Amino acid sequence: MRIAICGIRHETNTFSSLRTELDDFSILRGDSILETGPWDQFRDVACVPILIANAMPHGLVLEEAFTRLKEEITVGLRNTAQLDAVYLDLHGAMVVESIGDGERDLVLAVRKVVGEEIPIAASLDLHCNLAPEVVDQTQVLTALRTAPHVDREETRLRAIKLLVRSLKEGIRPKNSFVRLPMLLPGEHAATGVEPAKSLYGGLADVDGEPGVLDASITIGCAWTDSPFTSPGAIVVSEDRAFGDERAKRLARKIWDWRESFAPDVLTLPVREAVREAIDSPESPVFLNDSGDNLTAGAPGDVPAVLKALLEADAQDTVVAAIADDAATSVCFAAGAGATVDLSVGGKMDTLNGTPLKIQAKVVRVCAPRLAVVRTGGIQLVLTSGRLPFLTIRAFEQAQIDPTDHRIVVVKHGYLAPELKAIAGKAVMAISPGCTTLALETLPYKNVHRPVFPLDDGVELEF
Ligand SMILES: [Zn+2]
Repeated sequence: MRIAICGIRHETNTFSSLRTELDDFSILRGDSILETGPWDQFRDVACVPILIANAMPHGLVLEEAFTRLKEEITVGLRNTAQLDAVYLDLHGAMVVESIGDGERDLVLAVRKVVGEEIPIAASLDLHCNLAPEVVDQTQVLTALRTAPHVDREETRLRAIKLLVRSLKEGIRPKNSFVRLPMLLPGEHAATGVEPAKSLYGGLADVDGEPGVLDASITIGCAWTDSPFTSPGAIVVSEDRAFGDERAKRLARKIWDWRESFAPDVLTLPVREAVREAIDSPESPVFLNDSGDNLTAGAPGDVPAVLKALLEADAQDTVVAAIADDAATSVCFAAGAGATVDLSVGGKMDTLNGTPLKIQAKVVRVCAPRLAVVRTGGIQLVLTSGRLPFLTIRAFEQAQIDPTDHRIVVVKHGYLAPELKAIAGKAVMAISPGCTTLALETLPYKNVHRPVFPLDDGVELEF
C-alpha cells in the first residue's frame, strides 16, 4: 500500500497588509518528511514523502509562492507510480492572492492528477474554513481537538489510520460538513474552557457511534475574510445522508452554545486592561495583546499596549515583543549601555498603529537578532522578525525570566501552556490590530451574511 505524503499549511490573516512569500515557508522534501511524522507506525504501508510546507500565520500567500509549492506537489504525485492514496497535511485557512481559497485550489489540483478513484485524506487545524470542494473531493477530513494545539501528531495519525482502514476494508468514506452562520474567534473557544471543553470532550463518544468513522468540530478562523469562514461540524461516514444528519446534530449543539463562548480570563479595553494588570496583587500578570496576535497572523508591531503602559507609568513590566527591524538595528549599532531615540512599531501594521517615539537605554542585544531596551519601568524586547514568545525558551533568548517581573505583555490571545503554568493571573486586552476580538470593527467583505454575532436575527437553515 503506497500513500503519498504532501501538504501546505497556512493560516491566512486577510486583514494584514503583509504578504507570505516563499521564503516564509519552511519546506520539507522527500525523506526529511519521514523524520517528522508518525509515518512508521503502519506495517504494509509505504509512505511516499513529497513536500510539506508550513509557514507562520501571516497575510495573504503570494500567488507565485503557492503555485511553486502546489506544482512541486502535483509533479511529485504524477511521478509516483502505483499510488493507493494521498494524505494532505493542511491547516485549512489559507487564502492566496488572485486565487482565493488555497486548500480548494490544492485539493482540486491533487484530485486532477490522481484521478477520481484514489482516496484523499487531510488533517486540519480546527481553525479552518472549509470550501465545499475540499469537503467533496476528499474522503477523510479530521481536525485538531485541542486549542492551544497539542494534538497535531494524533490528528495526522487519525487521518492516515482511517485512510489505511478504508483501503484495507474496501470502504469509501464520505465527508459531511455543516457550516454554521457564525464567526467564532479562537480566543473564545479554547478547548480547556466551556463550552468548547464539553463539545470537544464529547467527540470521542461521537466517534464510537455506529456508522460514524470520525467526527470533528471546527471553530473557523475569524480573521480570514472568506466566503467559507465559519465554525462547523464534520462527520466522516460511509453514508452521506446519515453523515449529514449526524453533522447537523453536532452543529446544532455548537449553535445552541453560541452566546456562551468566551475567554476564561478578564477581557478589557487596553487602558482598563493595563490598569487591571497594575492593580492586581498576583505576579506575574500576563497581559495578552490579543488584537495583534502573531499566532493568528497579525504583524506584531502595534505599539498600543506599550503606549498605554508608559502613560500609566507601569513598573517592573516586560513587553515581549514588538517586531521592528529598524529599531532593532539602531540598538545593535548603538550597543549595550547606549541611550537611543527610537521610533517603535507601527511600520508593518500601519492601519492599526503609528510609530511610538521613545527614548530608551539598550540593556542588551542578543541572537536571534533581538534587543532589550529599558524605557521608564518597562523592559521592551525588540525583534527584527516576527518572533512569538510562547515558551520559556523564547524568553531565555532575551535573557528574561518572566517570573521575575510583575507584568508580562505577549502578543497572543489565549496563553500558551508553558506561560499559563507560570502566570499568577492573565488579562486579555481587547486591543487594536488584525486579530482584534472586536469583530464588529473589522472590514469584512466576503464573509457570508447574515452572520452571528455581527447581524441580528440570524437563524439556522437546517
Ligand atoms: Zn489553530
